[in-house]
Amino acid sequence: MSKMTDDKASEQWWLKPIQALNTSEWEALCDGCGKCCLEKLEDDEGAGMLFSIIACDHLRTKCGNSADGAETKTVTCACYTKRLSRKTDCIKITPALLAESAHWLPGTCAYRLRWEGKPLPDWHPLISGNKESVRQAGHSVADRAMLNDGRQTLTNAEKLENLLANDEVDWEPLVIRDWS
Ligand code: SF4
Ligand code: SF4
Repeated sequence: MSKMTDDKASEQWWLKPIQALNTSEWEALCDGCGKCCLEKLEDDEGAGMLFSIIACDHLRTKCGNSADGAETKTVTCACYTKRLSRKTDCIKITPALLAESAHWLPGTCAYRLRWEGKPLPDWHPLISGNKESVRQAGHSVADRAMLNDGRQTLTNAEKLENLLANDEVDWEPLVIRDWS
């Protein structure tokens, strides 16, 4: 391999096999879309895993402004380092988990894509150099999810459970079908 190719390969570290990523590379691979933090539903009519618009209670929106003054909006986990104890069904993504079961992650998830040997999309921040590109491409939950506003008495998971107990609920407004 030439020096230039070596340099290019180290710049594009995300092309390495996923098992070879170090901790900071692993964390940086996440595109921050927040889709994995939505409560999910298994479709009994064969559509597989569906994402509801109901987000985990710990998901928060961060608003700001870009250098050109445009509004920016990203999502973040309010308890990331303690997430596994704060939310018992939060799942830590690891290579072993991907080997066992990647199907519950969205098809756009950077971990799933790299596990499947696929390239990252143009809108991934590592490719675009801009976190906001996830939202601009329509892949952030920032504008679509129902987030906990801190005033509710039931958790979002409990709200979803109550909805599931009600046969009359119209699910269409509550699921996102254009994300796979
Ligand atoms: S605890 Fe954090 S990482 Fe886990 S599902 Fe909730 S928002 Fe996502
Ligand atoms: S779906 Fe994948 S890329 Fe998106 S926030 Fe979750 S782990 Fe990160």
